[in-house]
This record gives sequence, C-alpha cells and structure tokens, in this order.
Amino acid sequence: MPIEFEAPKPIIQAQFVLKTVAEEMMRPKSRYFDENEHEIPWDYIEFMHSAMKAMGGSSLAPKENGNGREKESSEKEKRPPIGYQLIATQLEALSWGDVGMYHCLPGGGLGAAAVHSVGTPEQKAKFLARFNAEKPTFAAMCITEAGAGSDNSAIRTRAVLDEKTNEWVINGEKIFVTGGDKSFTEYEKLGRGFIVVWASIDPSAGRAGMRAFVVEGGTPGVKAVKLEHKMGIRVSDTAAISLVDARVPFENILGSPTVETNTAGFKKAMATFDATRPLVAATGIGVARAALEFLKEKLAENGVQIRYGLPRQKLSNIEREVIDMEVMLKSAWLMVIKAVWMADNKKPNALEASMSKVKSGDVTTKITQKVVEILGPLGYSREFLAEKWFRDAKITDIYEGTGQINRLVVARQILGYSGKDLR
Ligand SMILES: Cc1cc2nc3c(=O)[nH]c(=O)nc-3n(C[C@H](O)[C@H](O)[C@H](O)COP(=O)(O)OP(=O)(O)OC[C@H]3O[C@@H](n4cnc5c(N)ncnc54)[C@H](O)[C@@H]3O)c2cc1C
Repeated sequence: MPIEFEAPKPIIQAQFVLKTVAEEMMRPKSRYFDENEHEIPWDYIEFMHSAMKAMGGSSLAPKENGNGREKESSEKEKRPPIGYQLIATQLEALSWGDVGMYHCLPGGGLGAAAVHSVGTPEQKAKFLARFNAEKPTFAAMCITEAGAGSDNSAIRTRAVLDEKTNEWVINGEKIFVTGGDKSFTEYEKLGRGFIVVWASIDPSAGRAGMRAFVVEGGTPGVKAVKLEHKMGIRVSDTAAISLVDARVPFENILGSPTVETNTAGFKKAMATFDATRPLVAATGIGVARAALEFLKEKLAENGVQIRYGLPRQKLSNIEREVIDMEVMLKSAWLMVIKAVWMADNKKPNALEASMSKVKSGDVTTKITQKVVEILGPLGYSREFLAEKWFRDAKITDIYEGTGQINRLVVARQILGYSGKDLR
C-alpha cells in the first residue's frame, strides 16, 4: 500500500472548519470555563450538535450509516479508509481551541467507542442511533473504581442475573467518569444518554468474567454522586457514579453473556483502547501546538524569529529549544497518524496505539512546561492561557492508561510477554 503524507481533502476541509470553531467559539471562552468549573457550555454544545448532525452524526468511531455497520465505500471510489485519521485530525484541531471544551462535544465519546468495539450489529444500531437525534446526547464509559484503575481486573462492581425477570442487577461505584454527569443526569436540553459499566459476572473467573453493560440514563438506582475538582480540563465533567441494585435488560450486556474459559471477551473489549488511545494522543498534541504557537507569537512580538536552516551552532538557545519542540511535536503526530492509519486499515495496532499515547503524553507535558518556562512571568500569569495549557496537557499521560501502563503494553507487545509475565 502506498504511503501518503499529504492529508486527503476531507481532512483539510475539516481542519479549516474546525480552526474557525476553535478560534471563534472555544478560545474566547477558554478562561471563563476554566474559572467556572462545572458550568456547562450550552451554546457550544448546541452549536456543535447542530453542525455535526448536519454532517451525519457523531461518536468516537468512524461514521455509521445508522444500522451499525460502517459505510461501505462505493465500488467506484476505492479510496483508502480515513475514518480514524479524520477523527484524530478533528480532535487535534478542537483541542487546539480548548481540550476541556472538546470533552463537552456531544456524542458517544468512550461509551459509544465501547459499543462500537464490542457490540453486535443490532446493539450498535440500537444504542448509537440517538447521537444523531434532535437533542445533543452524551455517553460515557465507567471502568475505574477506587483500587481498580491501572489494574482493572480488580474491579468489584458486580452484575448478577435475576433469572425471574431476565435482568442484570448491578451494584458498585465507579469514579472518574468523563462525561458521566451529562450522560446520566437529566438535563432538559439533553437527550437520554447512557453509560457503559464494566462489572464482573463471575469474580472467581477474573478477567474472563468481566463484561460491559449499557446502562440507560434514568435507570433507577444509578446516579452521578460527585463531580471532581480538577487541575486541568475543568469544564469537562468527571463524575463518580453509584449503582445500587440497578436493573438492566438482559440484552444490554455487550458481547457474550456466558463466562468463557479464556479472556477473549475481555481482550475484545480492551480493543476499545486500541482505537481511542491515538485519539487521546491527538488531543494532547492539539494543546501542545496551541502552546508552541503562542510562544512563537510572543517571541516574534519581541523580535525573535526562528532562523530555520542555519547550522545548530549558529542558533540562539531559544531558537534551538523551539526547533526541538517542533521536532518532538511532529514526531508525536506521525506516531498518531500511523496508529490511526492501522486502525482504518483494520490492522492490529495495540503496539502503535500505546506508543502514540506514551509519546504524546511525554511530548505534550514537556512542551507546555517549557513554554511556561520560556515565557517566564507571562507563562505563569493567568492573563494568558499558557499556564492553563500546562495544566490541561498533563491528563494526556493519565487517562486511558497512564504512561507507565502504556509502556508496559509496548514492552509486552515487543517482547511477546503476557500481562502475567510482565507487570
Ligand atoms: C480527568 C480524568 C478522567 C478520567 N476518565 C475516565 C473515564 O472516562 N472512564 C474511566 O473508567 N476512567 C477514567 N479515568 C481514570 C483513569 O483511567 C485512571 O485514573 C488511570 O487509569 C489510572 O488509574 P488509577 O487512578 O487507579 O491509578 P493507579 O493505577 O493507582 O496508578 C497510580 C500510579 O501508579 C502507576 N502504576 C500502576 N501500576 C503500575 C505498574 N504495573 N507499573 C508501573 N507503574 C504503575 C501508574 O502509572 C500511576 O502513576 C479518568 C481519570 C481522570 C484523572
């Protein structure tokens, strides 16, 4: 297959449109929503929902044709698929505007990504159609619990089948659920969302007993009990969700309802992250690009131009630092592109997905920190967004597998070790 470094037309068009959204709708509100944590950016949500609806709906998965199957490309146009590549570019562009507000983008988020990875065609059709409905709608994914984050095999949430009613009864408490409030709490302006809850149907079976369940908004016994106060992405709601005797229809279990002797079901569910890790990496890159561009602007205002093409020893220290950061950023972006290209072409990409996430986590935290440092008091002051980008960038290295965990995934893939061999 030929390697193409020029972005396809739909990607260039998306970049152009989203740059305007980022400049006009996100940047002007960035500081406000940082300072007014948990206030919901309704104007942005409603605008983005209408815009995305006009373009055919949204979720963290390549476009659906409404029945859960990916759009078949017509025989005539045998173009290579670019679904994930397009999403990565879109997320990078929106995160350049404001990564916290990007998290308030209506649509399925991680919840829909899980349904897309593990659900049957019928489940996809049933659960994903709502994101193109009249009102903006959210979904979220809940794995993390106190004591079960990196090691998600330790989750204690239980799902027990009530054979009389043929319903699953779920009990447990999930923490740090991105979009958990908007997916579950009833707001007049929002459609009915859902959360995908990970629970064990057989604790003695370890990972083989873990399953994901779609829990519809408004299910009795389920509520968002706490909103986290955070260092960065403060406009994004991060909720704790409690489930007490929550009853879920039998068919809302994603994947097989029987406990297999192996962890095939669990692994398939984990494949959600192979699709979404490069996308998280892309969001961090958007934040770092924002910081780096701002630095260059401020340097230019002070008469410092970067003299590309000069031998390194003739450059000033600042010029070298800026060029080094640009190299880091571009190499991180290329790793994202490789990982999403593999996802688009249905090639197993667990290694590349984790690599791109590790690289982006490192690079984006380093760049935003360096920008604050070089700008000195301007970087530290709340007058500008540099200090906010520094705070916002750190999450890239935490959620969807910390830097350490993704390094382990990379090492296991390269060395051929299992999770048991190398942990
Ligand atoms: C803002 C935010 C949003 C989030 N959104 C979601 C969400 O939508 N859904 C969801 O389910 N979760 C979400 N999370 C949870 C997130 O995925 C976890 O915080 C993350 O996986 C780490 O788990 P933990 O918090 O339990 O940390 P721990 O697992 O306790 O880790 C603590 C530290 O130990 C290190 N560590 C752990 N194990 C190892 C090891 N084997 N080797 C080396 N180092 C190790 C970790 O890297 C980390 O540095 C979110 C978290 C945050 C902060």
